[in-house]
Amino acid sequence: MPILIGCNEVIPTNPDYISDGFDYPVGKPNAKGYYDAQPFGKNNHLGSDLNGNGGGNTDLNDPVFAISNGFVKSAKKLKGGWGNVIRIIHELPNGKQYESIYAHLDKILIKPNTFVKKGQIIGTIGTNNGQYLAHLHFEIRSFTNMGIGGGYSWFTMGYLNPTSFIKAHRKVKK
Ligand SMILES: [Zn+2]
Repeated sequence: MPILIGCNEVIPTNPDYISDGFDYPVGKPNAKGYYDAQPFGKNNHLGSDLNGNGGGNTDLNDPVFAISNGFVKSAKKLKGGWGNVIRIIHELPNGKQYESIYAHLDKILIKPNTFVKKGQIIGTIGTNNGQYLAHLHFEIRSFTNMGIGGGYSWFTMGYLNPTSFIKAHRKVKK
């Protein structure tokens, strides 16, 4: 069987949950009070590490929000450095899909295989049981059916710069 990459994930259709735009996952809706401690591409990072401006663990248990309407593909604890991870598929009116990934969560507050609305609280910022200072590892992907990956790679096909993507997609045309 060939390896398929760059394909859409198969999700249920629901017109009420088509994406109408994207917000930031912390400090709703504009990431107020947060900074990106390890931007996309730095040290081959495949996401953003969003931290509270207060530093340390001041952001522990802060709410994490769905960046757009979508479908929760999974919400569970993964092995190794990932910890609790939520993966959401967002479908645009033109059928294009994007995936958002929220990692190292302290709490998961959403069930898998459910639809979410933009701005809904889905979890809280965590440390993966003390492995890190509290922060949100956050990815956006244009390939929505890939494995979880390693969080770092020089090979970025299918991964997007989360900050640039959100800036460019605050509103999505119907
Ligand atoms: Zn990270």
